[in-house]
Amino acid sequence: MVNLLDFDLDGLAAFCEGLGEKRFRAVQLLRWIHQRGQADFGQMSDLAKSLRDKLAGRAEVAALPVISQHESRDGTIKWLFDVGGGNAVESVFIPEDDRGTLCVSSQAGCAVGCRFCSTGHQGFSRNLSTAEIVAQLWFAEHFLRRHLQTEERVISNVVMMGMGEPLQNYDRVLPALRLMLDDHGYGLSRRRVTVSTSGVVPMIDRLTRDCPVALAVSLHAPTDALRDQLVPLNRKYPLDELLSACARYLASAPRDFITFEYCMLDGVNDGPEHARALLELTRRHAAEGLRCKFNLIPFNPFPQSGLLRSPAPRVLAFAGLLNNAGIVTTVRKTRGDDIDAACGQLAGDVRDRTRVQQRMARQRAATSQKKVVS
Ligand code: SF4
Repeated sequence: MVNLLDFDLDGLAAFCEGLGEKRFRAVQLLRWIHQRGQADFGQMSDLAKSLRDKLAGRAEVAALPVISQHESRDGTIKWLFDVGGGNAVESVFIPEDDRGTLCVSSQAGCAVGCRFCSTGHQGFSRNLSTAEIVAQLWFAEHFLRRHLQTEERVISNVVMMGMGEPLQNYDRVLPALRLMLDDHGYGLSRRRVTVSTSGVVPMIDRLTRDCPVALAVSLHAPTDALRDQLVPLNRKYPLDELLSACARYLASAPRDFITFEYCMLDGVNDGPEHARALLELTRRHAAEGLRCKFNLIPFNPFPQSGLLRSPAPRVLAFAGLLNNAGIVTTVRKTRGDDIDAACGQLAGDVRDRTRVQQRMARQRAATSQKKVVS
């Protein structure tokens, strides 16, 4: 059975052509599925009966089973989705006054192994398919419309900052990005779709050509010696190569700056000397056209990391040094603290695989019981 969530418009058009149908049928299907949240071909009233018959038995719109949903006091909602084989991934919706942002996962686990990231500590299970990436957005958007009783679009921004390194799953992420941007899909602005990477340099260059969206780079250290320890991928793509790729990216990016994410770790990377080294690093690349902003992230400690959150005054002093030197620097507000929804903690529940397995088993038992009852 083919899951139609796996396709961007070109993919769906090719699938329809395989059924002997014209491209405009793919446009109709895409709108029904993504704009209206319809999964039942029988309800797609303007599709020819002959096409509905062809789809039945060959194709489906299959959502991911929801293992759990937690809503924070501040309106943040976190979902844990079952992707099979004992794996689960998380998505988080963060409502703000002027936007609704969904943080999406691209892999089950992550192979990069950043020291401060709980996902990294789990290791890597597998890449998500395009359908599994898109299903997070499809479910969240249409759940939220029902939840908030609106027919208007709720999710205005998508950030690929959940579990996984999206640029290490490039071929599946690319159709998902195209679908997010497609006017027949989610119609999001390129400026409002952000890929966050730890620095896979060749794929940054490919994204420039294939689908330039906003780019965030997990920097976390001003020198190779320190970044090698915090973000092991740095040994393959060191800072100078990475920042040069960022400068090249800006030539076709929808925003005129790169966002550098910087997780503030007590006594590790948060001193004035680190801020000064960052200024030196970014100045060196300004000549290539690099423009950037910094987003300082309060670290969410977890036992295996052996790391602590920087005290707030040190974070403010660090931000002050960068801002005074002319680099716009913000400190990320923590959201959803009561449900462990912060960046780098998305895997909080998943980390304990035993508990996840138990919850999945409970959910499967409940589902089969429902089937028996009905
Ligand atoms: S911070 Fe991102 S790239 Fe690094 S281990 Fe975590 S999920 Fe992977």
